[in-house]
Amino acid sequence: MTDPARPGDAEAARIARARLPEGLRPETLAVRTALAPSQHGENSEALFLTSAYVQPDAQTSARRFTDMEDFTYSRTSNPTVRSFEARLAAMEGAEGAVATATGMSAILLLIMGLLKSGDHVVCSRSVFGSTISLFAKEFGKFGVETSFVSQTDLAEWRAAMRPTTKLLFAETPTNPLTDVCDIRALADLAHDAGALLTVDNTFCSPALQRPLALGADLVMHAGTKFLDGQGRVMAGALCGPDKLIRDVFGPVLRTAGMTLAPFNAWVVLKGMETLALRMKAQSEATLTVAHWLERHPAVARVHYPGLASHPQHELAMRQQSGLGGAVLSFDMRADTPEAARAAAFRVIDGTRVLSIATNLGDTKSIITHPATTSHGRLTEAQRQASGIGQGLVRLAVGLEHVDDITDDLQRGMTAA
Ligand SMILES: *Cc1c(COP(=O)(O)O)cnc(C)c1O
Repeated sequence: MTDPARPGDAEAARIARARLPEGLRPETLAVRTALAPSQHGENSEALFLTSAYVQPDAQTSARRFTDMEDFTYSRTSNPTVRSFEARLAAMEGAEGAVATATGMSAILLLIMGLLKSGDHVVCSRSVFGSTISLFAKEFGKFGVETSFVSQTDLAEWRAAMRPTTKLLFAETPTNPLTDVCDIRALADLAHDAGALLTVDNTFCSPALQRPLALGADLVMHAGTKFLDGQGRVMAGALCGPDKLIRDVFGPVLRTAGMTLAPFNAWVVLKGMETLALRMKAQSEATLTVAHWLERHPAVARVHYPGLASHPQHELAMRQQSGLGGAVLSFDMRADTPEAARAAAFRVIDGTRVLSIATNLGDTKSIITHPATTSHGRLTEAQRQASGIGQGLVRLAVGLEHVDDITDDLQRGMTAA
């Protein structure tokens, strides 16, 4: 008698869709790339909440613990997590990807995997606040030294290179000032020195920007942001060549355990199916808001790569598929830092639709004061060096009607 839960071989082959045809476009890969379905043929990828995997016999178990291809224990690997890794790698045009618990733990894995005491890193000084702290304070304790340089001045990056430089780390556009660096130029600089370039692609996501195609060696993600896209879970990843993902980062992750939880992997996996649509809609709305802010008398300056006034506008349009992304920031007009902070706080507190929170890439628009939140742990000198003034407000644009967003900002501007 056949078991109704186990289809025959022919049926199993028909529903096993793991081997997709070549040449599919990114939107298709975002919906279709995953491990093969189970014997039940589920159309939506399954969530495998299991810590361990039953082995058929001792011999197979022994082999699987050596070759790591099949599943043994979920710190090491999990089918839902592996589907997320496969989908992200396909979207980034990478040979492989390794998932991590958060964006920050992806950077931790990057450094633990690539560097040792005595190695040197060159990093933009305008990257995400926690990234600066991680490089400057935590990695410094283990003898990995980091030089922080201008996001946009290639000569500064070149001057900072040492014989021990193993890694260049860039984020583009940056948070919250949206400075754009030239990925190809930094890749050339890194490769001339025998170093690797890693790009934090959180802000653009692969829907807009594919750093590997521009010469970067590795891409890092905070999946928490646009990949999830609805502000639900934390996730991170590194994408790159198999020889690094499988042979260098895989073993460190398995030992150190900054593993992505299967539930979070599943949420982000499903979020990625709508990534391209969301990035396009949110980028277009952000450009509308940016133009509105540029015309506002209470605003001194708007930072947004989609604006012609942005210093790297042309480079950004080339690198980012012609879109500026869904995050902008603006400086309130004021004479002193105290007055600037008061004006920024009044704008933030005057809004009634936007969320006051520290996140981005959500369907809900989020308004933030970087100097007292994401960059609050920096010293005043570090903050000044990063250009984060007290009057700076960051806006991560979601999917509300764009007129409701500008109306809400106007409420705050009237209060200011
Ligand atoms: C949020 C963020 C991170 C860190 O990601 P977490 O998931 O919060 O750890 C890193 N880089 C950028 C650009 C981010 O926006």
